[in-house]
Amino acid sequence: MAHSKALLVLENFIGGKFVPCSSYIDSYNPSTGDVYCRVPDSGKEEVEAAVKAAKDAFPIWSSKSPLERSQILNKLADLIEHDLEAFAQAESKDQGKTITFARTVDIPRAVHNFRFFASSILHHVTECTEMPAMGCVHYTSRAPVGVAGLISPWNLPLYLLTWKIAPAIACGNTVVAKPSEMTSVTAWMMCQLLEKAGVPPGVVNVVFGTGAKAGEALVCHPEVPLISFTGSTLTAQRITERSAPHCKRLSLELGGKNPAIIFDDADLSQCIPTTVRSSFANQGEICLCTSRIFVQRGIYSEFLKRFVAEAKKWKTGNPSDPTSDVGALISKEHLEKVRTYVKKAQAEGARVLCGEGVDPLALPPGNQKGYFMLPTVIAEVKDESCCMQEEIFGPVTCVVAFDTEEEVIRRANGVKYGLAATVWSSNVGRVHRVAHRLQSGLVWTNCWLVRDLNLPFGGMKASGIGREGAKDSYEFFTEVKTITIKH
Ligand code: NAD
Repeated sequence: MAHSKALLVLENFIGGKFVPCSSYIDSYNPSTGDVYCRVPDSGKEEVEAAVKAAKDAFPIWSSKSPLERSQILNKLADLIEHDLEAFAQAESKDQGKTITFARTVDIPRAVHNFRFFASSILHHVTECTEMPAMGCVHYTSRAPVGVAGLISPWNLPLYLLTWKIAPAIACGNTVVAKPSEMTSVTAWMMCQLLEKAGVPPGVVNVVFGTGAKAGEALVCHPEVPLISFTGSTLTAQRITERSAPHCKRLSLELGGKNPAIIFDDADLSQCIPTTVRSSFANQGEICLCTSRIFVQRGIYSEFLKRFVAEAKKWKTGNPSDPTSDVGALISKEHLEKVRTYVKKAQAEGARVLCGEGVDPLALPPGNQKGYFMLPTVIAEVKDESCCMQEEIFGPVTCVVAFDTEEEVIRRANGVKYGLAATVWSSNVGRVHRVAHRLQSGLVWTNCWLVRDLNLPFGGMKASGIGREGAKDSYEFFTEVKTITIKH
């Protein structure tokens, strides 16, 4: 393809050096539809070089004390924070998300990921038991596993990549990371800071490229014993198959079809703005976004009226405009896919109350070819509809009525996913009862997206295998050994 303007050209980061690649893929600015960046199209050869560099760096890095590693992680956090605005601008341009979201969520969380694991690595203790009658003491020791393969998606690029890099290297592993080919820029920018932060060459290697080439080469590499993956359930199935001959350790953080359950005693003044946010934040491109809203029948009409009015306040526009609430979707293909769901719902007799196909979308002249879509609310959708069963991953949410607690639990659980749910009620007993019975790795009551990184994060059913979080990440990224001493 011919390119008129000078393009940003990324390079792989291997063994502490930026290395050009023999072929490249185009990366688009979702808010304009223009190619603006070229991303290495890495394959086996590049992955091989990165794994070698990571293997070579492992003996020294793994023998550093947790305190030494912690200091380096903190330094890296400081450097990213120092450049927060540049990172936020880059993330917004590369992904289509609003500058406000990148400034207040993505990049601060990437900084926090490094600070959090820099601190938490200092506080883990191992177990010890005694068997006095046998004259024995048992204890466990934990050691880093080796070269960790880290594969991340496009929706929260630096946020999710650092959620993997930070615990992996804090525990003493070295890593080969592969960000999404659609959003590689901030990972490349982070590589520019590693040397200054004191991360030795080879500890963090980043190989850019597609899942089919670079991703699979990493998954199939015999000297990468663990893979931490965040992405779709379909890709996770493929990764599981391809890694099975090597019996790799896998952490799989996958999709969701997250319900919000709103009882008639909910505080709607809190619930409505939060549920609009949980449905449309980051264009609905967060695995934790709400996409099925169950409202108790007595408040259904009032809820719907107020919810649609609130959703209409969300401004879709140029992501770099700080007044925009909704930016562009990641790609033209993804936009088409999301639109198709809305069309299918309409064909099935559901009502589109606002957004796609109903309201006009006014965009600035420079954004006419961008991949934009208005926040869309659909009502009267059948539970068996694909819109209520499949992950749409866009600014679309479905609202339906329910009558009883028993019924709504059954319907909320009636999908293949089990990642995150929200429950809105002022009845504490009910909140506990419902939370216990929901098949969901996370349940938020009367709030959304409030995270304590100490606690497990992850999904049930098709939403994943394994959990991440301080203790869980530590366990995933280390190998445990039980030692018995007879005295
Ligand atoms: P995806 O599965 O298409 O891609 C994710 C990553 O895997 C990318 O880096 C991609 O290049 C790579 N990949 C693709 N095929 C591969 C293969 N065969 N082998 C190895 N790597 C491969 O997902 P996506 O479209 O980038 O992201 C959206 C999905 O991610 C949604 O389903 C969303 O719910 C999920 N997600 C889950 C979480 C969570 O924490 N549970 C968080 C964010 C996103």
